[in-house]
Amino acid sequence: MADSTPSPSMKKKLEGKVGIITGGASGIGEATALHFATHGARAIVIADIQDEKGEKLAASIGPGLCKYVRCDVSKEDQIKALVQATIQLYGQLDIMFCNAGIMSKSEQKILDLDLDKYDKLFTINVRGMAACVKHAARAMVEGKVKGSIICTASAIASVGTEEYTDYTMSKHAVVGLVRCASRQLGKHGVRVNCVSPGAVGTPMVLDLFGIGSDELERLFERKFCLGRMLKVNHVADAVVFLASEESEFITGHNLAVDGGYRH
Ligand code: NAD
Repeated sequence: MADSTPSPSMKKKLEGKVGIITGGASGIGEATALHFATHGARAIVIADIQDEKGEKLAASIGPGLCKYVRCDVSKEDQIKALVQATIQLYGQLDIMFCNAGIMSKSEQKILDLDLDKYDKLFTINVRGMAACVKHAARAMVEGKVKGSIICTASAIASVGTEEYTDYTMSKHAVVGLVRCASRQLGKHGVRVNCVSPGAVGTPMVLDLFGIGSDELERLFERKFCLGRMLKVNHVADAVVFLASEESEFITGHNLAVDGGYRH
């Protein structure tokens, strides 16, 4: 399980807030759930399709504070139900971290692009992300909550890649979604931003490369200008910042959390 110790300057930024984290059972989402708890959130809803991991994490954070809800973000009705259940249980929604995402299990170069894999990936990374923003925004506007919606894009949302055409395209789309939604929701006081991490040693990436986190670190650390590997806690810190009132005048922003990653 990820270490949730926040930076010293980052204490109790989310006092009283209710937040949902999609893809919250693992990796960046898991670390963010732990950070939300450390920063004083009133309630955290972990939404994922890995029931055992999600239930275990929710129990470790505390049953009064954290709840696991199964939600497949490729199904709009499940996202709608997730948001409704959160409002019913906790009265409002302040933070939506739209984070669930996948990579195709093999390279997706344009000459051999597998469009079935492409469709599957887009259903989760793009359509699912848009549906999460839609239903969270509706709840915030209807509840007159000055909420914060944060999406997970990627460092490769701003550049092309040699191998991962579908994934790279999907993360560019996330930035477009954030730019549109932030323009439309600003008048309601709802902010929409995204974080763009560089490579992090989560199950998604380790499974793709078929290696352990030490090996990933050896392969990638020199790509970061800071000369060390990005960790899930660095991303969670950025999400907490965008979720909190410290970023109250920031919307439509794509926050790179990549240690100056050199592509
Ligand atoms: P991860 O595999 O540890 O976590 C992803 C979570 O999303 C998993 O718990 C998974 O069960 C969940 N998920 C997958 N499909 C889902 C669905 N249909 N409905 C609900 N949940 C679903 O990987 P991670 O690296 O923590 O990924 C989180 C986000 O970060 C993703 O959007 C990913 O694209 C993005 N990201 C990751 C990296 C990296 O290097 N790890 C870099 C940039 C961006």
